[in-house]
Amino acid sequence: MLPGDGIGPEVVSVAVQVLGAALSQEGVHLHRQEGLVGGCAIDAVGMPLPPETLDLCRSADAVLLGAVGGPQWEALPMGRRPEKGLLGLRSGLGLFANLRPALLFTPLAAASSLKPELVAELDILIVRELTGGIYFGEPRGVFRENNERVGVNTYRYSEHEIERIAKVAFDLAGKRQGRLCSVDKANVLEVTDLWRQVVSALAAQYPEVALSHLYVDNAAMQLVRAPKQFDVIVTGNMFGDILSDVAAMLTGSLGMLPSASLAANGFGLYEPVHGSAPDIAGQDKANPLATVLSAAMLCRYSLNLPAAAAAIEGAVDAVLRKGLRTADIAAQGEGTPRDGIALVGTKAMGEALLTALETPAEAA
Ligand code: NAD
Repeated sequence: MLPGDGIGPEVVSVAVQVLGAALSQEGVHLHRQEGLVGGCAIDAVGMPLPPETLDLCRSADAVLLGAVGGPQWEALPMGRRPEKGLLGLRSGLGLFANLRPALLFTPLAAASSLKPELVAELDILIVRELTGGIYFGEPRGVFRENNERVGVNTYRYSEHEIERIAKVAFDLAGKRQGRLCSVDKANVLEVTDLWRQVVSALAAQYPEVALSHLYVDNAAMQLVRAPKQFDVIVTGNMFGDILSDVAAMLTGSLGMLPSASLAANGFGLYEPVHGSAPDIAGQDKANPLATVLSAAMLCRYSLNLPAAAAAIEGAVDAVLRKGLRTADIAAQGEGTPRDGIALVGTKAMGEALLTALETPAEAA
């Protein structure tokens, strides 16, 4: 567990209780240890990612992270900020595949920016390459040339980087609805033309998966026009960064979005998409569901315990159906004695989840 800063410890605390309960129902005992990352690590030992934290992660089956950052560390130089801890974890643990599901729980359909009928029961998985592409390519920087400054970044992928992320996406699509859409800009960028060639060449090994390709501009349009056409989307680092935020808004709230970052051996780091929310930290207002759903992904992808994952997701669905809402997912004006919606804090949401786990029949 790497609770981190701000609301991180509050949401991780709930998620770990729910994870422990779901695992014990499967006869699995959760051994947990806690490490420092982000601002709390800077305060304690002067660096955002102490080597002991990386060692602790390497010795674990999986990592559950809260969030890092806050205004008190914003004046530090770029290389010593809390967020550097996250980048260090990604590269240090070889987390090259970022999985961002956009799953809409039916009781929250009204929270989407799209019409409810376009998003009801939406279930998309975006697989983003996380350790390559234009965010890491060299040369990079701002240089002087002919008496003016010139900014340079390099968009680069090698075949093995494309192949390993594509294999993750094909495998996942095979376990879902069997549809994989690869997103590129092959009409303009040679590097993504290579991307398309490598992904296409793999398709023969996955006869159960229907592969399609879209240019990124069209993919962005389709995501907001008819998002349910997608099952799994695989794309590079930058396009994935942008498209996963678009897909995120289809589901309404930042407080509901989990993520997984996977390494080649199945090891994974699981975290909510949201940040440390300093504006509500320590006030029992944070929505813990994104972190709880991240714990469900941990069960599914690192522990290979799909029943525990399904139990956690079922408990989330049950508490939402019962009308429990943290403030961020309540519609305006909701929470009156007559509308069946109860506004709750972080801890009460956690307790309701534990109750729902214990009584799945009632939840169903
Ligand atoms: P944020 O996600 O922390 O917050 C944005 C808004 O959403 C805030 O109003 C916040 O109260 C609300 N919100 C976020 N999560 C919520 C939750 N679980 N329940 C209820 N409301 C929630 O983004 P920000 O304000 O841009 O960043 C705050 C800090 O977090 C910064 O230091 C930033 O660098 C850091 N950050 C960290 C991560 C990460 O750890 N992965 C990601 C994004 C931002």
